[in-house]
Amino acid sequence: MTHTALKIYNTLSRQTETFKPIHAPFVGMYVCGPTVYSNAHLGNARTFISFDVMFRYLTHLGYKVRYVRNITDAGHLESDADEGEDKVSKKARLEQLEPMEIVQRYTYDFHEVMRLFNTLPPSIEPTATAHIIEQIEMTKKILANGYAYESNGSVYFDVEKFAKEFSYTALSNRNLEELLNNTRELDGQEEKKGRLDFALWIKAKPEHIMRWPSPWGEGFPGWHLECSAMSSKYLGEEFDIHGGGMDLVPTHHTNEIAQNIACHHKSPARVWIHTNMLTVNGQKMSKSLGNSFLPNELFSGNHKLLDKGYSPMTVRFFMLQAHYRSTLDFSNEALQAAEKGFARLMNAMKLIPDLKVSKQSTVNCAELGKNMYEAMNDDFNTPIALAHLFEAVRMINSINDGKESITAADKEELSKLMNEMVFGVLGLAEEKAVNNDKIDGLMQLIFDMRSAAKANKDFKTSDHIRDELKRAGFEIKDGKDGASYTITN
Ligand code: AMP
Ligand code: ZN
Repeated sequence: MTHTALKIYNTLSRQTETFKPIHAPFVGMYVCGPTVYSNAHLGNARTFISFDVMFRYLTHLGYKVRYVRNITDAGHLESDADEGEDKVSKKARLEQLEPMEIVQRYTYDFHEVMRLFNTLPPSIEPTATAHIIEQIEMTKKILANGYAYESNGSVYFDVEKFAKEFSYTALSNRNLEELLNNTRELDGQEEKKGRLDFALWIKAKPEHIMRWPSPWGEGFPGWHLECSAMSSKYLGEEFDIHGGGMDLVPTHHTNEIAQNIACHHKSPARVWIHTNMLTVNGQKMSKSLGNSFLPNELFSGNHKLLDKGYSPMTVRFFMLQAHYRSTLDFSNEALQAAEKGFARLMNAMKLIPDLKVSKQSTVNCAELGKNMYEAMNDDFNTPIALAHLFEAVRMINSINDGKESITAADKEELSKLMNEMVFGVLGLAEEKAVNNDKIDGLMQLIFDMRSAAKANKDFKTSDHIRDELKRAGFEIKDGKDGASYTITN
């Protein structure tokens, strides 16, 4: 099959470019991972699902991808302006736990969420705390190269000095003057020379729990530094792709590029890919705005904004219906439509092996394949790829109804294409309980018994039924039209 070349939108050049790896067939891809101080929400999941599809597709095309996605377990402060507490440290203080207990708990939760969404594990998942030495070494080099200064036990990156020689705003495409004028005065941060300077190394106050010895005294690394240190360690000073959510462009990624240039005299990644935000009523989903959903709330339906629960694959399908660079707004209607669409797709997949073959095909499988690859090669355009998949669904249903016919060779091609695209590239998977009439019947019986117990004011029994079902992996939601259930594991 002839394919068009893969094209990717590069935030750095603001253009869609033909993808050419530096050392084909190897591809190095670094994606900023989660800060493990709280449960990953659905917005975070959207970003990682998007990169999972890219990882899968690049691998499918035959590239040997080294996918590095870090875990931020130190150095991420509450504000981007080097203010506030370290997020992990703060949570540990509030819960009176060892910071590594916090890190362990939320790393585990994150992996579980990623597993439920059927994302592949990255090739390397490095942590900031395991790379303190590399970060200290990088800070030393940046100091030696003259782009940083020490101040009272902390080390800051000198943005104004850097910006005289290199472009500091190449990625964000902002105007440096405007940026300077719009940045707050340095009240309380007299250690910094310039308003835009950011910390490479931060002196630990006496009460700060996460601290390491360094040439500048005890402290901890700045957040941006870990990604520079770990990407160069595992992918080299120049690599192919760097990604993350769009919200990381103006500060985190801008500072990462500056650090790499100041240290290695090289801009780290050729292509910068940024995913757009998952929104709720047009607003970014975020914990601080109080509009975030945890994946488990979505699966169980236990959330004030939800009518009912949705399975992980329905949610993954819902996310793939939008291009990764468009915002995606969360709504019950869209999820309901995704649930139906996903069930239709899975139904058609099940019909393929038993399709009757004929001497002649009235369907064009080659065209279908070409269209799907063209969509994916157009900056990973999953909504268009899905639209072509639904043409295939119509085709499969028509053959099954005897309205169209297919040869054995075409059937083999169709089966291979559909399996590779649906399960391999888009990462969808069969869910055992989709449309399971037998379980539905059984659950209805249990619901009736529970309603009867409630009517008799026997709440001990009704609660017992709910709790035991939960233990068995069935989350019950009481709605106005009666009870419904979702399977959580
Ligand atoms: P954090 O754990 O805050 O460091 O974020 C992990 C990743 O999730 C980053 O790449 C963010 O850009 C991304 N992210 C955060 N909120 C959203 C959202 N509402 N939609 C999509 N991605 C998000
Ligand atoms: Zn990062």
